[in-house]
Amino acid sequence: MASPTILHVDMDAFFASVEQLDDPTLRGRCVAVGGGQRGVVAAASYEARKFGVRSAMPIFQARQRCPHLIVVPPRRQRYAELSQRIMQILGHFSPLVEPISIDEAFVDVGGCERLHGTARETGLAIKTQIREQTGLSCSVGIAPNKFLAKIASDLNKPDGLTLITAEQMMRFIDDLPIQKVPGVGPRAQQRLAAMGISALGQVRGFSEAQLVRRLGAFGRRLMELARGHDDSPVVVESEAKSMSSEITLDQDTRDRSLLATHLLAQAEAVARDLRRHQLRARTITLKLRSADFQRHTRGQTLPQPVDSADAIYATALGLLNAFDLNQPIRLIGVGAGNLQSRQVPLQQELFATEENQHRRQWEKVDRALDAIDERYGRHCVMRGTLAEPGKTKK
Ligand SMILES: [Mg+2]
Repeated sequence: MASPTILHVDMDAFFASVEQLDDPTLRGRCVAVGGGQRGVVAAASYEARKFGVRSAMPIFQARQRCPHLIVVPPRRQRYAELSQRIMQILGHFSPLVEPISIDEAFVDVGGCERLHGTARETGLAIKTQIREQTGLSCSVGIAPNKFLAKIASDLNKPDGLTLITAEQMMRFIDDLPIQKVPGVGPRAQQRLAAMGISALGQVRGFSEAQLVRRLGAFGRRLMELARGHDDSPVVVESEAKSMSSEITLDQDTRDRSLLATHLLAQAEAVARDLRRHQLRARTITLKLRSADFQRHTRGQTLPQPVDSADAIYATALGLLNAFDLNQPIRLIGVGAGNLQSRQVPLQQELFATEENQHRRQWEKVDRALDAIDERYGRHCVMRGTLAEPGKTKK
C-alpha cells in the first residue's frame, strides 16, 4: 500500500496574514485584502472570517457582515517575494516541489526519510522553518496521494497538520462529503445527490458507465478517486513539459458559450503544437483567472494520451462545465501536460467504444487540417464554431 509521502503545504489566509505581519496594528483585527476597481475580497483574516467574510465576496457585503472590517489594498509584489521564499524553504526538504498557486505547493518526500525523518516529522519541520523565516503560519496535509493531501491540509486550518495514512485512507474516502472533492461544484453535487450520493465512498456503489453517463468524463475520475487511486505525480516545474494556450479577455465574462469558443481555439493551437512535436498528452488542464484575483486550475488525466483538438476541447469543456462561475472570468487557458512521445504505442484499447471511434475520426480530421496548414498556411481552414463567431451568444 502506498505510504503517505505527499505533502500539501497551504499558507493560512496568505494575503491577509502578510498584511498583519507587516503592520502590527492589523494583528488580531478583521482584515480583508481587496477592494480596488473590482471591489471584492481577495483574502480575509481569520478574525474577519468569524463574521462570515469570505474571499470573492463583494466588499460592500463584507462590510455589512463585519462593520469594523479594515480593507487593505493588495501588494502583489510583497506576496510574490514571500511566496518565493516559502518555495525555497520547501526545496530544502525535497527536490520534488510543485507550486500550484502563490501560497500552495505539493512536496513529495518519498525517499527523503533518511535526511528529514518521516513525512510527519518533515511536515512539522516545514511548518517551523516557514514560521521562523517568514513569520507566517501554514497548514500541512500528508497523504498517500495529491488528492487526499490537498483535502487534508484544509481539515485543521489554521496552523494544522493532518496525516492520512494508507490504512485510514479508505475510511476517510468513505465519509468524505462529495462537495469537498475538487471539481465537484454545485451542479455536479446536484446530479450526484439525485443518485443518492453525498459521500465519496458511495460512488463505488455505481458502475463507471453509470457515472460517465451522468457526469461525463469526470465520472471516471470520480470513480478513481473513490477507489483511492490518484497517481498524478508531483511535477517539478522546470522539468514539467507542457504546452498551453491562454488569453486575457477584453472584458470579464460569465458567458459559457463565449468561454467555450476560446477553449476550442486554444485546443486547436495546443493540439497542433503537440503534433508538431510528435507528442501526446495524458493530462489536460483548464486554467481560469477570475475577476477577484483567484487563479483556478482544473485538470483531468485521461485513460489514453491524446493529440487531437477534439479530445482536448471535450476534456477542457467538461472541466469548464463542472466549474462554478461565481465570478466573471478574465483569463482562460488550456494546457496539455504529462506528455509522452507519439513513438510510444498507445496502450491497447480494451473497448472499441463509440468514444474511441469518435476520437479516431477526429484525429483524422486534425491530421488533414495540419496537412492543409502546411501547404497553405495557418487558419486557412477553421472549424465551424470558430468560423462563425456570430453564432455564439454574446
Ligand atoms: Mg492558502
